[in-house]
Amino acid sequence: MSTKIGFIGLGIMGRGMAANLLKAGFPLTIWNRTASRGDDLVAAGARRGASPADVAAQSDIILVCVSDTPDVEAVILGEEGVIHGARPGSLVVDHSTISPQATKLLAAKLAERGVAMLDAPVSGGSEGAAKGTLSIMVGGAAADFARALPVFQAMGKAITHVGPSGAGQTVKLVNQVLVVGNCLAMCEALMFAQAGGVDLEKTFAAISQGAAGSWMFTNRAPQIMRRDWRPGFTVDLQQKDLRLVLDAADDFGVPLPGTSLIFQLYRTLQAQGLGSEGNHALVKALEHLAGFEIAGLGD
Ligand code: NAP
Repeated sequence: MSTKIGFIGLGIMGRGMAANLLKAGFPLTIWNRTASRGDDLVAAGARRGASPADVAAQSDIILVCVSDTPDVEAVILGEEGVIHGARPGSLVVDHSTISPQATKLLAAKLAERGVAMLDAPVSGGSEGAAKGTLSIMVGGAAADFARALPVFQAMGKAITHVGPSGAGQTVKLVNQVLVVGNCLAMCEALMFAQAGGVDLEKTFAAISQGAAGSWMFTNRAPQIMRRDWRPGFTVDLQQKDLRLVLDAADDFGVPLPGTSLIFQLYRTLQAQGLGSEGNHALVKALEHLAGFEIAGLGD
């Protein structure tokens, strides 16, 4: 008998992930706060649950992908939350990016009811969610990881068990430290190139394949040169993830001066109403300081 899956949170990421589970043949029950976002999935064969508790009651493995720590707490511990419907022996998997510390507390509360939990944040963006090519970094018990692996394989490619509860979230935040560091380096490099009067496209061609190259530079520098601010990942979500990084760093007692600076630069973008633009709009904070724009100098 196929493992019965529940999916809670059908946003940009959750919708693609849930669709891939249906395609892989898993019986699927869904719930989303805004119910209409699940209509396509119901048309494709999913059942609609009445609440997170109802989804949990009908499922062996319950996946969650909502925005932030309080949102995961609401759908798991809230009045009609997963914890009130989940059967002992069932497994909750959180795909959201949230606090590692809060994750451990949630896992402990579920464990009191005999329910296991994995933290399994993802990277790869909406495109990876739709194509089933996400990277999934998983924290929790090895036996629970083994149990969930076929489900992960329907949604992702690089699937890594990285340690105990909370470790998946910690590794995801490591990922975010690198993402924003690469992003700031790219933005400063483009500002420097523009100020130095060199052709940006030729600069890109000359260096993107070498030691200074990165996924960020290859994919986002051309977007900046076209002044295309459509998001792969929004400024608001990036800011949220940096808040999680800095909270955890405070907890660990580790200084992150570079990441703290980038957090503040993203805040200036939010203050200007740019929260829904892509994270490469970080360059606009530097443009504001420098008094010129990429592709704008000398116009
Ligand atoms: P999104 O499109 O904004 O969707 C957020 C989802 O969470 C929606 O289904 C929303 O319901 C639900 N939600 C939020 N607060 C809730 C609450 N209090 N109670 C119940 N449901 C709530 O976000 P997303 O891009 O799918 O991101 C989801 C998670 O994946 C986030 O933690 C994000 O950091 C992470 N992530 C995103 C990306 C990316 O590229 N987008 C990449 C990697 C990881 P409604 O539909 O009712 O608003």
